[in-house]
Amino acid sequence: MRITGRTRLAGIMGWPVAHSRSPALHNFWLDEQGLDGAYLPLPVRPEQLAQALLALPVLGFRGCNLTIPHKQMALSVVDRVEPLARRIGAMNTVIVAADGSLEGRNTDVYGFRENLREGAPDWQPMRGPAVVLGAGGAARAVVAALIEMGVAELRLMNRTRDRAERVAEELAAPRVRISVLPWEARDAALEDAGLLVNATSLGMAGEPELAIDLSRLPAAAVVVDLVYAPLETALLAAARRRGHCVVDGLGMLLHQGRPGFEAWFGTPVRVTRELRAAVLTTLVAPR
Ligand code: NAP
Repeated sequence: MRITGRTRLAGIMGWPVAHSRSPALHNFWLDEQGLDGAYLPLPVRPEQLAQALLALPVLGFRGCNLTIPHKQMALSVVDRVEPLARRIGAMNTVIVAADGSLEGRNTDVYGFRENLREGAPDWQPMRGPAVVLGAGGAARAVVAALIEMGVAELRLMNRTRDRAERVAEELAAPRVRISVLPWEARDAALEDAGLLVNATSLGMAGEPELAIDLSRLPAAAVVVDLVYAPLETALLAAARRRGHCVVDGLGMLLHQGRPGFEAWFGTPVRVTRELRAAVLTTLVAPR
């Protein structure tokens, strides 16, 4: 990378931010495209988020990504929030417009959808109910994406049931039946399902495994895990052994970066095998 007087800037705000894979992702694309740009980690304390966001146009930044704990708080700072991000209640991408105003978007929905399309091209939304485990920010994006993709029935389960109730209420859409079931019902909920998504943090390195018995899941069902470290979780390994089509979470992470990159640097980018390999290296050898 070469920094010049014209280098276009973007970055990721988080607290902490050093664990983020986004710099590896965006700087891979910048190198690949030969663009005069840089993408920086921006450690920003929660109490200084507004100041930091408002400084983006002042410093000539094209925009930024947001990670924990800023995704909700930023909604009240930016000038405009796209309806999808407003509905989900979280934004992960900021675009600085030509007039210096800030626009907030949520690209996790896009990332989930593109990853599912790429990893399970034969999956059809009408194949059967979709079972979603979790009710955090990631689960909200998954539910919004599945509704957008045309799933007719969603079964939601979360350890803390109230949170799942809120997701069902806030993301309710016409022609979609969303039922909230007890966390303990997750084995039985797989009966006749077409898709199972783990959107909890269970299975992540350092977290307990997701305990679930897949024996009632129809053979044609697709299994998606949003966890990407490790890449092959115990859930995906079990699903693979049973012959299911499985989709790991890395692709979602990579695809969700595309809309921001394209807006900041003006060039469309793709998720390639080389990109996966480059970002995977940072997962295997954390900085
Ligand atoms: P979050 O808002 O903190 O939500 C965590 C979820 O996990 C909640 O539903 C929580 O249930 C559940 N959970 C945590 N520990 C549990 C346990 N011991 N037993 C049962 N449930 C448990 O996090 P998030 O942002 O939604 O992220 C969730 C996962 O998705 C993380 O692994 C994250 O890395 C991954 N993710 C991946 C991508 C991607 O691009 N691939 C994007 C976003 C997130 P409670 O509500 O009961 O606490």
